[in-house]
Amino acid sequence: MTTFHGKKVRVLYDEAAVRARVRELGAQITRDYTDKDLVLLCVLKGSVFFFTDLARAIDLPLTLEFLGVSSYQSGTETTGEVRITSDVSKPLAGKHVLVVEDIIDTGLTMQFLLENLKARHPASVKLCALLEKPARARTQVGIDYKGFVVEDVFIVGYGLDYAEQYRNLPFIGVVQGK
Ligand code: 5GP
Repeated sequence: MTTFHGKKVRVLYDEAAVRARVRELGAQITRDYTDKDLVLLCVLKGSVFFFTDLARAIDLPLTLEFLGVSSYQSGTETTGEVRITSDVSKPLAGKHVLVVEDIIDTGLTMQFLLENLKARHPASVKLCALLEKPARARTQVGIDYKGFVVEDVFIVGYGLDYAEQYRNLPFIGVVQGK
């Protein structure tokens, strides 16, 4: 347990654990994408710190793209109705696209996004997610590269927010007594 500006936060994965896992994922992606035209696609905003750390853990030439999505909420859950709020800057046709996402919860946002990306005729589309919360899955989304599996709790830190705050915590945790 630690505190952040008066709030108690339970640490799930500290900075060292995150760094080590990102390094492993980067090495695996380096092996798999050698000699491929790799586009690393950041899903804003939650994956931003994971994305920049992962990119530097991949020892290959690659390009970076950014995409914003907004999923309509019903209570605490996504409805599956998703909108692209800002799109990539270059066509993805013929490229090997690796989508980098913060967390797969119900999976509905990613299901929509992967279908949308596949329609752009990339050479391949794969998914790298920092976290998976299988207890809440409503659809099966294959995660090709996975950081950690988490229980059914609301995660903050390392890019993930609570009401847009806590993204800059350098570790992955859970706010206690919100
Ligand atoms: P899904 O469509 O898989 O239900 O939702 C995915 C999105 O919901 C994630 O990209 C993330 O923005 C948000 N989300 C889901 N679970 C959590 C969580 O535990 N903490 C935070 N901060 N965001 C979450």
